[in-house]
Amino acid sequence: MTPQRYAILQYLMESHDHPTADEIYRALSPQYPSLSVATVYNNLKVFIDAGLVREHTYGDDSSRFDADLSDHYHAICTKCGTMVDFEHPPIKDVEEAATASTGFSVFGHRMEVYGLCPTCKTMHA
Ligand SMILES: [Zn+2]
Ligand SMILES: [Zn+2]
Repeated sequence: MTPQRYAILQYLMESHDHPTADEIYRALSPQYPSLSVATVYNNLKVFIDAGLVREHTYGDDSSRFDADLSDHYHAICTKCGTMVDFEHPPIKDVEEAATASTGFSVFGHRMEVYGLCPTCKTMHA
């Protein structure tokens, strides 16, 4: 593992705000001047393929990356795009309902709630 690659993974493990590749690049480039956004992307791809990182893609927004592989849900701010983790027991009903009505063998689901984060809520008021 190259020092850059290690730094990217380390950064993802320590941050809980689901950074984009751009944000990772901006955070690490002072320490690693030879780093480029493309390098960050390539390394993220490796982590995703290795099952170390999850990618979240939403519409036109750039992907966000999450090194927390535990079952958790996300609250997303529709204004600034902030993505926050929250704990909730896995909603198995959804998977059972999907199996019953579609015949799929379901092995997971993804759920997000949308709204305004506390910062945007304040600015909105
Ligand atoms: Zn917000
Ligand atoms: Zn998360």
